[in-house]
Amino acid sequence: MSEQTSKIAIIGAGSVGATIAYACMIRGVAKQIVLYDVNRAKVDAEVLDLNHGLQFARPATVEGSDDIGLCADADVIVMTAGAKQKPGQTRMDLATANTDICRKLIPDLLRLAPSAVLLLVTNPVDVITYICQKISGLPQRRVFGSGTVLDSSRFRFLIGQRLRVAVQNVHANIAGEHGDSEIPLWSSADVGNVPLHEWAVMGHGKLTVRDRTEIFQNVKDAAQQIIKGKGATNYAIGLATARILEAVLKDENAILPVSGLLTNYQPIGEGRDPTDVLNDVCISVPSIVNRGGLETSLRVPMNDAEWAGIKNSAEVIRSAIRSCGF
Ligand code: NAD
Repeated sequence: MSEQTSKIAIIGAGSVGATIAYACMIRGVAKQIVLYDVNRAKVDAEVLDLNHGLQFARPATVEGSDDIGLCADADVIVMTAGAKQKPGQTRMDLATANTDICRKLIPDLLRLAPSAVLLLVTNPVDVITYICQKISGLPQRRVFGSGTVLDSSRFRFLIGQRLRVAVQNVHANIAGEHGDSEIPLWSSADVGNVPLHEWAVMGHGKLTVRDRTEIFQNVKDAAQQIIKGKGATNYAIGLATARILEAVLKDENAILPVSGLLTNYQPIGEGRDPTDVLNDVCISVPSIVNRGGLETSLRVPMNDAEWAGIKNSAEVIRSAIRSCGF
């Protein structure tokens, strides 16, 4: 597949789906972008608006329909259809309704686009990724979720803002669930190659324990704060998803904290019991992303508290998966 033939099918033309299309258009991620939604008036209006901006974006076609046939031969299917959080609701509250939507849609989509990589964005994304892995029966690497790419970009923004350094020079990840049990990997965070715990630069300060607590709390509260103000989060998830799609379609081998099915996963750390591993759960850790999807979940360094937090997060996800009947 070359960039000439790249086709993205976005399922759901709501706030998130339409903004992913917009971000992909501007970044020139694919030649063909299609949006499918059961709400014909909504998808038609979004596509019309997007097409009116094509003159100012990179060459591409944008089409939409309530006919799922439009998704035929897509290289990547991006799932955003489903219920979204209302103020006060957690992502896990959406699990049952959104599982039902995936049960109905995934088999039809894969009949139409049998070679596609499946990228899940619908929440609770780790649960939905696991369930779509099971429903689709696809090889592990071809099904993965946007995971904590968004949470990590919120994290990096806040660290960069406090230390007055460019966000692009902050290397720090949130891992685990995309949700309340997520874990900040402070121990491996660095700013311009300086380990974050050693960062103390004149005019740029350093992070106190209180700063860290506030930053992580802000990351966790971000979605609710935005939803309270405008009803949905869309710009950052649109850009984050466009970035993941670019990594896939341009076969980048980019390292991103996406959510994938873990097998015998253990992070780097001294003196660990070899049987202390995670299996059979979809969760985010930094992973290599390329044209095949999620190639490898990387063994990154974690201290004991971080690893314990990831295992707790895995239990939270597992219990939601079980409550959906899987
Ligand atoms: P939205 O309500 O604006 O849009 C959802 C769209 O899905 C609607 O247009 C609806 O008509 C469509 N839809 C519903 N059932 C469908 C079906 N069976 N077939 C086709 N289309 C269908 O919601 P949103 O704000 O765009 O959020 C979408 C999802 O993305 C939610 O689950 C939300 O929680 C999630 N989300 C995930 C992240 C992340 O980081 N993973 C970030 C933000 C939002």
